[in-house]
Amino acid sequence: MSGASIPSKDYRRQYAPWVDELLSEWRRVLLEESPVLGPSLSAFEDDFARYLGARRVVGVNSGTDALSLALRVLGIGRGDQVITAANTFFATVSAIRMTGATPVLVDPDPLTMNVDEDAMAAAVSSSTAALLPVHLYGRSAPLPALEHLAERHGLALVEDAAQAHGARDAAGRRVGSVGACGAFSFHPSKNLGAFGDGGAIALADEALGERLDVLRNLGKRSGHAVDEVAPNTKLDTLQAALLRIKLPRLDESNERRCRLAARYRAGLSGVGDLLLPDDPGSGQHVFHLYVVRSQHRDALRAQLLSQGIRASLHYPIAPHRQQADLGIALGPGGCPVAEELADTVLSLPIAPELDEVEIDRVVEAVRGFFAGTRP
Ligand SMILES: *Cc1c(COP(=O)(O)O)cnc(C)c1O
Repeated sequence: MSGASIPSKDYRRQYAPWVDELLSEWRRVLLEESPVLGPSLSAFEDDFARYLGARRVVGVNSGTDALSLALRVLGIGRGDQVITAANTFFATVSAIRMTGATPVLVDPDPLTMNVDEDAMAAAVSSSTAALLPVHLYGRSAPLPALEHLAERHGLALVEDAAQAHGARDAAGRRVGSVGACGAFSFHPSKNLGAFGDGGAIALADEALGERLDVLRNLGKRSGHAVDEVAPNTKLDTLQAALLRIKLPRLDESNERRCRLAARYRAGLSGVGDLLLPDDPGSGQHVFHLYVVRSQHRDALRAQLLSQGIRASLHYPIAPHRQQADLGIALGPGGCPVAEELADTVLSLPIAPELDEVEIDRVVEAVRGFFAGTRP
């Protein structure tokens, strides 16, 4: 059962095939372009907009900034409520909070672990300004239903697509291109990752792009004239040049994730009390993470770690149980499904740079745990 350890991701392996191409492009950029707002940035923004089917893309410094600027450009802030998923990465909630708006968390669908449209509908109040579904783990939230809900109540629809570059909703649309704004992260761990932080806002309406050009750049309209107080959060030219090289192979890398996910499903169906990710049936899941559930999660994880298998947790603390004051009016028990998930979810290694032999070793190790085999 021994052998080399199995990482949850491996940047050295991921970058090995890209190094020569990246270095020659970076060499060109260093000698020809501006480090800030260089031509490679607008070229990547155009490429990514075309890929998504969005009207425009605006590159920023992180997914968190993409979310908060998306809300801000839509006029959402103090006094407004924004409804999002109670089992999301806490940055979704911080981003809402940083605009001054109040996050309202709703329990996910226990089967899909994704946003539940009925729970969102039940949470709409006279203060609600936006719905912020999260395409968690790489699977599309129920966008057609949420579009209807937003329309019926006159709410903005903002998508957190940080984990779902390339995923498609039930109507076949790329996620992030459906709502007024779609927020992406290019953190190195994501399906489309930079070598450092990065993010972008995809827009359904081009006009918002001009205001975002100002909002991401200290509020400067031109020269020394400042229109408003705003952060400095631009995607770097070098990161954009790298992302532009990686984008054409995003679909291939997502397909590889899907093949590895199918291998897990085949190997782990019916094992112990494991709940495997539900098959979406429509749309396109891109398996940013492969999240299983078990009542024996902690013991299973400990045994996998002892065998060198980097199983991880997304996420062990629901946002409303964090120490930070995220402005959420909810106590323990406030979102029982999210709390149950925090105690039972386990992310098995999945990354395009892993191979089938490694997935099979994880499968064997998980089966061994439930068969009572000591490593
Ligand atoms: C990664 C992530 C973010 C934040 O993106 P950063 O680039 O790390 O700021 C927001 N929401 C979700 C769901 C994420 O996975």
